Amino acid sequence: MAVRVRGWKKAQRTDKKCPICGSSLMIEKKDVKVRGIVIKNVKMEVCRSCGYTEITNEGLEEVKKEYKRLIQAVIRFFKSPKPSDMMGYMSLNLATVNEPADTDEFDDIDNNISSDEIEVYDEDEEIRKELEKYKVVSHVKEVVEEKSIPVSSIAKRLGVSPQRVYDIIKGKNIPNLENTFKLVKILGVEKIEDLYEYKKVEEDDQ
Ligand SMILES: [Zn+2]
Repeated sequence: MAVRVRGWKKAQRTDKKCPICGSSLMIEKKDVKVRGIVIKNVKMEVCRSCGYTEITNEGLEEVKKEYKRLIQAVIRFFKSPKPSDMMGYMSLNLATVNEPADTDEFDDIDNNISSDEIEVYDEDEEIRKELEKYKVVSHVKEVVEEKSIPVSSIAKRLGVSPQRVYDIIKGKNIPNLENTFKLVKILGVEKIEDLYEYKKVEEDDQ
């Protein structure tokens, strides 16, 4: 039975019940990641109550077919790069595909993918997780020391208390965007990046 949702988006209810909570499972299209490759719009059975998600048989067949097609495009591209194959290659932009040392080893593509190998790929969530690894790193201390501008002077020019400036120098306080632009001028550097960097922090550094 097809249920019409908000005019354009169709959701299908299945006869199956969620093994976790017993609600009806719905068919939804989701992006999945398999063996480092992202495949879009795959039919999944989803429980809207508890989030349980499983790939449908039809979805698994789609994944196998698409996986083989994408890998073949990569092989063709590496064997003899042609603009027409470039498109197939570009669609792998999120995949981690390294140039094979010997392309022949890809002649027998194993696309016997099991459902255990498939995970839902949520791009927003991936980006959020990636950004969590970044941190604002302050170079204000080095710049202030190098230029030997008195804290009282910086405080006056910025229109804040000297204590606030100490906190900024120590990196305990990160000024708002406008005050950061002002600091760029006050400290005579070229750009914000001379004062602050947004850097990926390796786990060892934390
Ligand atoms: Zn459920």
